[in-house]
Amino acid sequence: MSQKSLDKPAKILGILGGGQLGRMSAMAAARLGIKTHIFCPEKESPASHVAAKTFEAAYDDKQALKEFAKSVDVISYEFENIPVETVRYLKKFKPVYPDETLLEIAQHRWKEKQFLNDIGIPTAQWGKAKSADDIQRVLDQWGATSCIIKTTRFGYDGKGQAKINSLDDITSAWKSLKTDEAIIESLVQFRYEISVIVARDLFGKVQSYVPVLNDHKNHILAKTTAPAPLDDSLLKRATQMAEKLAKRVGLVGVLGLELFVTKDGQIIANEIAPRTHNSGHWTIDACSVSQFENHVRCVCGLPVGKAVHHSDAVMINLIGDDIALVEKHQSKANANIHLYGKPDVRAGRKMGHITILK
Ligand code: AMP
Repeated sequence: MSQKSLDKPAKILGILGGGQLGRMSAMAAARLGIKTHIFCPEKESPASHVAAKTFEAAYDDKQALKEFAKSVDVISYEFENIPVETVRYLKKFKPVYPDETLLEIAQHRWKEKQFLNDIGIPTAQWGKAKSADDIQRVLDQWGATSCIIKTTRFGYDGKGQAKINSLDDITSAWKSLKTDEAIIESLVQFRYEISVIVARDLFGKVQSYVPVLNDHKNHILAKTTAPAPLDDSLLKRATQMAEKLAKRVGLVGVLGLELFVTKDGQIIANEIAPRTHNSGHWTIDACSVSQFENHVRCVCGLPVGKAVHHSDAVMINLIGDDIALVEKHQSKANANIHLYGKPDVRAGRKMGHITILK
């Protein structure tokens, strides 16, 4: 579905979603003299604290969506589970970037893997399952006894996935997903998990931040090291993959591409984040133009900024009780503390992050 394009740079940015990514985007927008209006169902969302206006309503509330659209110049989103229908509806009023092409791909793991493979980006071997029998059949075809199964939609931070270590696990793993549709993926024996954040503006110009190394704890990103301490040629290949994806999907804004690096140096795509990404938070403190500023620039019709870093950095996520680490870091000159203003500390909840400049 085509849409109206921006005829001049936006002065008011609308963001669907009220989490920390929206919050940090709104803060970057403010620095550029751009106001942000947030649309999200939650009360007291982290983004609402720093936005000029918040529309608190459901994503299918057409009246509220229309009012929101009329109040802004351009619209973006900060999380991938925004209904595609919402984006289609909003496009009647104002441009939405990135448009729903990327959103639809990133929301469905079959579409995501198929798209990546179609443009020549390798992924784990994968298959489709609508029942436990399908898993058995696919594993037989592969001659394998282990795999990972994931719900096609709404999975994040390891939620909605199960590991199958032997054929005996199939039934219980399938039941645990509580879904009628899943992807079956071969188990990648990866050595590293890396990611690339790429930005593309309305004029087609592309910038990528240096690939970073990601360490997870309980499937949640715990630490990002920037740049990833890996071979230059490997980093270059990872960057080329992300840039190819950005161009082929007609990106306007920022996306993150999560990748596995195998022991023999192969790079395999795992997941696309159609938005700014947790592994790009270090760019706020280590780059003149952060991923958030670049996202704002690109969707608002400004030229993409140089994605170069002036410092190496390590970003530590503050998850749940990790928030206590703030005390230890607050007297350090090279520690940049970011808190998201979430009222209750909960296990597994991203409360903030600290970027240590090297
Ligand atoms: P995801 O929700 O797809 O990002 O997966 C969460 C985590 O599970 C990843 O960060 C990996 O550590 C692990 N994982 C996902 N897919 C695979 C796979 N095909 N092989 C091995 N590990 C995987």
